[in-house]
Amino acid sequence: MTVAAHTSTSKLPEAVGEAARRRTFAVISHPDAGKSTLTEALALHAAAITSAGAVHGKGDRKGVTSDWMEMEQARGISITSAALRIDYDDCVLNLLDTPGHADFSEDTYRVLAAVDAAIMLLDSAKGLEPQTLKLFDVARNQGIPVITFVNKWDRPGREPLELLDEIEQRIGLRPTPLNWPVGIAGDFRGLIDRVEGGYTKMRRTPGGATRAEEERLSDDQAEQVEGETWTQALEEIELLGEIGADFDEESFLAGKSSPVLFGAALTNFGVAQLLRTLVDLAPAPKPRSDAEGTPRPIEAPFSGLVFKMQANMDKQHRDRMAFVRVCSGRFDRGMVLTHAASGRPFATKYTQAVFGSERHTIDTAFAGDVIALVNAHALSVGDTLYEGKPVHFPPIPSFAPEHFMVARALDAGRYKQFRRGIEQLDSEGVVQVLVSDVRGEQAPVLAAVGPLQFDVVKHRMEHEFRAPIELSPLDYAVARRTDAASAPILHGLSGAEVLTRRSDDELLVLVHNKWRLKVIQRDQPDLVMEALLAGG
Ligand code: GDP
Repeated sequence: MTVAAHTSTSKLPEAVGEAARRRTFAVISHPDAGKSTLTEALALHAAAITSAGAVHGKGDRKGVTSDWMEMEQARGISITSAALRIDYDDCVLNLLDTPGHADFSEDTYRVLAAVDAAIMLLDSAKGLEPQTLKLFDVARNQGIPVITFVNKWDRPGREPLELLDEIEQRIGLRPTPLNWPVGIAGDFRGLIDRVEGGYTKMRRTPGGATRAEEERLSDDQAEQVEGETWTQALEEIELLGEIGADFDEESFLAGKSSPVLFGAALTNFGVAQLLRTLVDLAPAPKPRSDAEGTPRPIEAPFSGLVFKMQANMDKQHRDRMAFVRVCSGRFDRGMVLTHAASGRPFATKYTQAVFGSERHTIDTAFAGDVIALVNAHALSVGDTLYEGKPVHFPPIPSFAPEHFMVARALDAGRYKQFRRGIEQLDSEGVVQVLVSDVRGEQAPVLAAVGPLQFDVVKHRMEHEFRAPIELSPLDYAVARRTDAASAPILHGLSGAEVLTRRSDDELLVLVHNKWRLKVIQRDQPDLVMEALLAGG
């Protein structure tokens, strides 16, 4: 186990000791699985334990929310659109937010490039859902270890063994439960802790509402109270041991197995164990490899990766904020960093921590933390910033777009604003921008994973850049990467067109549909048509 937080860090360089206390993660789930509820539960639970040494049951959402706001004021933490910092047990948990809507999965992809672990959150009645599957693929692609939380166990759902089987069969991830439910979903009695032993009974309050009153019982007591259901749970646990479903650190870190927790975020059940799991099992930041594959040591001078850009957080000043995941060293506000892409200096006088609805200025940060840089007009998603010895992290891969539109300025007199707007939205990663000599600069092709991305572009072009646009759909549904030799041949075929992606100069061939693609591949097998990252 990587119980780094509990080992003595006093003799280590500061940056290494601080990084060892960080756990930076995201939640991947299908909408409605309970991500917001779990996020609140994690923060509240951690705060309750840290400040009062006890956990208070929270029955309804309203209570949670108002508590949340009080806590926000008192402790200066809150959920923003970027990251939440949770202090727990001498660890700093950085929970990076992922957009809920599938149309913005490109954003989620980038967030997953900035975390060290993910929680895969499942609804106990639904199991693996489409958006979960897509995001899991992305996590696997990034080599991120995944902890599974099966949520909503307080209400009728599926059999635990059936859910584990689904995980193993459908995504080839070996589930290793850390706790085990007593009683079926819907008649849920409590949880057996497979790691430390012991049984936590869930209490029900009169009227049917469930509360997070965790009561620890000994095995004998549990047998008396739960009778047959207890015996059945023990039999199932024995079976888990026989089939080798025990936690295994090596395969977890390699993304091959996943510790599984059953619980209910709404009633705070199993949330304490999830926090412990994050602290004890989730990996601390590791040295990040640069574009040549050489890892930059944690104790090296500051380096960071821009994983998200956000404009307009403050309507008064149309500013542009870059969210940076710290990868090495120590960050001190006021440092002058180097922007790897341009070699230019970047001053960080106005750095902010991203937690808090009020923006807090931040003075120091370490590997695993997220900082927000304001006035970041020169930065783009995927950029590297560093101090000292130069470093350039590899670009964040982008999803395969499936929707394409030609953009034109409605008012030809505002072409300058049009161009500036498109450039900026491109660098923020709002859409991918494709250009070709044939179409010309005035009519770039916008490529998106989800159609809602176009709505964002249209709205921002009109309101922010004052250059309203017209979008006309293109009849393409597939994009593939090609090369300079194949491009002219592909471009001459019907139902296909080659353009250059502006952000990385990749040549992409767009094709009407999968069938047309198959025909081209069959007729001309030598042409280069590589699949882009799927998932969108
Ligand atoms: P998100 O879309 O993933 O952020 O999901 P929410 O957190 O908004 O939750 C969706 C719905 O599921 C809400 O009505 C929650 O109250 C409910 N919910 C979340 N967690 C639980 C749980 O553990 N048990 C039950 N019964 N309902 C839950």
